[in-house]
Amino acid sequence: MHQGIMKAWLESSHLSGSNSTYVEEMYEAYQEDPSSVSEDWQVVFDNLPAVNGTSQDIPETAHSKVRDYFRSLALEGRAKGASRVTDPELDAKQVKVLQLINAHRFRGHQNANLDPLGLWQRESVSELDPAFHGLDAEDMQREFNTGSFAYGSDTLKLADIVKALKSTYCGSIGAEYMHITDTDEKRWIQQRLEPSLGKANYDISTKKRILEGLNAAEGMEKYLGAKFPGAKRFSLEGGDALVPMMREILYRAGEAGTKEIVVGMAHRGRLNVLVNVLGKRPAELFDEFAGKHDEVQGSGDVKYHQGFSSDFETPGGNVHLALAFNPSHLEIVNPVVIGSVRARQDRRGCKDGLQVMPITIHGDSAITGQGIVQETFNMSQARGFKVGGSIRIVINNQVGFTTSNHEDVRSTEYCTDIAKMVQAPIFHVNADDPEAVAFISQLAVDYRNEFKRDVVIDLVCYRRHGHNEADEPSATQPLMYAKIKKHPTPRKIYADRLIEESSISADDVTGLVNTYRDSLDAGDCVVKEWRPMTLHTVDWTPYLNREWDESYQASMELERLNNLAQKIVDIPESHKLQSRVAKIYKDRVSMADGEKPVDWGFAETLAYASILEDKKRVRITGQDSGRGTFFHRHAVLHNQNDGTTYLPLRNVADEQGEIDITDSVLSEASVLAFEYGYATAEPGGLTIWEAQFGDFVNCAQVVIDQFLSSGEQKWGRLCGLTMLLPHGYEGQGPEHSSARLERFLQLCANHNMQVCVPSTPAQVYHMLRRQVVRPMRRPLVVMSPKSLLRHPLAVSTLDELANGSFQSVIGELDALDASKVERVVFCSGKVYFELLDKRRKQEITNIAILRVEQLYPFPQEEMQAALADYQHVKDFVWCQEEPQNQGAWYCSQHHFWAAIPAGAQLTYAGREASAAPACGYPALHARQQEELINSALKLS
Ligand code: AMP
Repeated sequence: MHQGIMKAWLESSHLSGSNSTYVEEMYEAYQEDPSSVSEDWQVVFDNLPAVNGTSQDIPETAHSKVRDYFRSLALEGRAKGASRVTDPELDAKQVKVLQLINAHRFRGHQNANLDPLGLWQRESVSELDPAFHGLDAEDMQREFNTGSFAYGSDTLKLADIVKALKSTYCGSIGAEYMHITDTDEKRWIQQRLEPSLGKANYDISTKKRILEGLNAAEGMEKYLGAKFPGAKRFSLEGGDALVPMMREILYRAGEAGTKEIVVGMAHRGRLNVLVNVLGKRPAELFDEFAGKHDEVQGSGDVKYHQGFSSDFETPGGNVHLALAFNPSHLEIVNPVVIGSVRARQDRRGCKDGLQVMPITIHGDSAITGQGIVQETFNMSQARGFKVGGSIRIVINNQVGFTTSNHEDVRSTEYCTDIAKMVQAPIFHVNADDPEAVAFISQLAVDYRNEFKRDVVIDLVCYRRHGHNEADEPSATQPLMYAKIKKHPTPRKIYADRLIEESSISADDVTGLVNTYRDSLDAGDCVVKEWRPMTLHTVDWTPYLNREWDESYQASMELERLNNLAQKIVDIPESHKLQSRVAKIYKDRVSMADGEKPVDWGFAETLAYASILEDKKRVRITGQDSGRGTFFHRHAVLHNQNDGTTYLPLRNVADEQGEIDITDSVLSEASVLAFEYGYATAEPGGLTIWEAQFGDFVNCAQVVIDQFLSSGEQKWGRLCGLTMLLPHGYEGQGPEHSSARLERFLQLCANHNMQVCVPSTPAQVYHMLRRQVVRPMRRPLVVMSPKSLLRHPLAVSTLDELANGSFQSVIGELDALDASKVERVVFCSGKVYFELLDKRRKQEITNIAILRVEQLYPFPQEEMQAALADYQHVKDFVWCQEEPQNQGAWYCSQHHFWAAIPAGAQLTYAGREASAAPACGYPALHARQQEELINSALKLS
């Protein structure tokens, strides 16, 4: 509603003059939050005439409706609004009271008691002072209507209202939720906070459970500190409440029917969570501290990166817990966790997210500093990525390594402000009040389950030691650490409170401390709810200890393939295709009928169809994956009449695997991390991430370095993710030519992943099928084509698809006389077709061309077979489009040398070394391209 219109309406109505100010104020309050005015007033404001211009546009009938409404209220004398109209002075005060309530809902958190150390310098918020609203001491004793404030009765003395507001909004909980636009959500939160004044009111057994959590958290750190002095453990101390908090979340989730929870967290407090929440045996952890380890393959990882899985018993049933392995790069684990959750939800057919819940634990500097957090918030409601909300916990110890000055770490009031971009409610809570922590944790779980959206708990605490235990924090935070030294531990504060209120005796408290220490001495699991795993739904054993060159069933009956080919071109007549798409599908019909050779898009689609027919899942995300960046895929067909979509791949068999092809949010890092998480939790199907252009993968480098290439080596976690990265030098400039092949090759060792450059439709078909049919689960990195998608020579037959298999090396195809060959050129990708074309045109018969379609693991055996006829040749050339310092030349050269006959020479034909991946001038590109082809073919 436009302010000017409101003014005009007021001036023309019987409410003009003195009444108008207070109505205007009330209207302002209504605009900020409709629930802040009484329901009668809401009806009035809701029914005000619609705005479509200036005040003159308001029809007179609307005025009279409003006027009549007021009159009827006044006459009946029954409603609050009516009394205000008839007693404007009192009503003006009433409006002020409602505004005071509203102010607490909006800004109470700014004066809440959140910092356990009491160091936060917070300006007092004038709107929270009754005097600011013109409410004086006399008013304190007057009764006012409480409007929608959900505490006590409809009317209360102002003094009681103020007390209730302070308790609810300015105590140990700072609730930020008025930025949410959905009234139901706000009301729901009010109904949870206000009736109990933000207090938990737990029975003794829950209080004891909370104390046990704090006792375990502190006991564990003290024990480690005494047993392994100076060893890095990234102590939780100061944030001890995380342990009872996690446990309360698990209990609550279990009661709500959650079956699996995936947790992501960085170092801080991780060992504590591992032992005191997930139930890792302390003896195992102590062995790790002592440097012992099992004789396992791989590099292993430090103990505070380790993941863990277990089941946890709750009164509502057992819950499977999985703590994700994570690297040092803070926050990047979060999209991995969400991806893992989505895979589990998909497997369970759980659409509302209730059965599997993510918990992500953040640092205060990291959540605000790392862009990946924004990316995951952005994903939280996006179709391909949503999981029904995440519980996001910030261990806000007010310092990031050595940086704590507010001015240095962020530009916002709270570290959690980023969450407002998705209107997530944010609950700041003083970690020294563990009951408030437990209360808000339960509320968070319920909110997530009710509204399927992210919710943030900002656990405001401190860090008792330095960043790690070898650090001296007072070097950089002298005042904070002087305070911390004198500050009692959370366990002590809470134990004293329970003793004081006679909930527990001092002896019991001492008993708890001793019993916990004894159980650590014994080394056995200290979590009484721990249960051996039975709830996880995937058996990984078929995929363990597999190799890339294991034989597998690549071929299938031609009849079956023909049948699939017909299915994927079958589109309902009512689904009107765009003309270019219709042409592509018309061609596909001809391909299915065997009248035209199979092109890339058709072969790729057939690969998916065959996997789906085998009842395996296919998931593809990328920035344009439905259509394909280069207009080749068209897996998702858009009806030109009504915009609806149709996926032929959803109709390949009566019973088939599920397929999701979703255009992703415009991110690389979080989407790739999500898909990594998905693929590490779902080995059965095919999971693909496609970059729009290959160079975009740069933005996801951390995922490639820290998860994809090294996850198996570090953590024994297998991942069969496929990455399609468009790559090829077509004169599109430095940014859209290269998927940085060299970077992947540099990361290759221990057969950690496969790097392929398929050059024909049959090859892409077999490569994709192999990734599922063969039981090895390792990442597949594909330099996928652009111009080759429509190259007249890059075609295959249905028979090659049905009866062939993936060829790691493709030997010379033309009928050359091998004995006359004097030079052999190796290459990968589209340059092959340029070499072939020129050799044919120039009628060169003494140069053979071999394609290396899999650069890693290097296919020595296939290479030897392809070179069998060329053992007399002394002149071998590696030809590439990329500059010399890029592409495969430096990283794969040793394999080429090993493949060529003894005494032969290997030389390079390609672009000169260059700092940029490609040149920006089309003419220069063409010249360079011609030169490298000529050089490979010994043409001047
Ligand atoms: P989770 O459901 O993630 O807790 O996993 C349960 C168990 O499955 C783990 O303890 C592992 O033994 C196994 N597992 C899970 N994910 C993988 C993976 N990506 N690679 C190998 N084994 C896995």
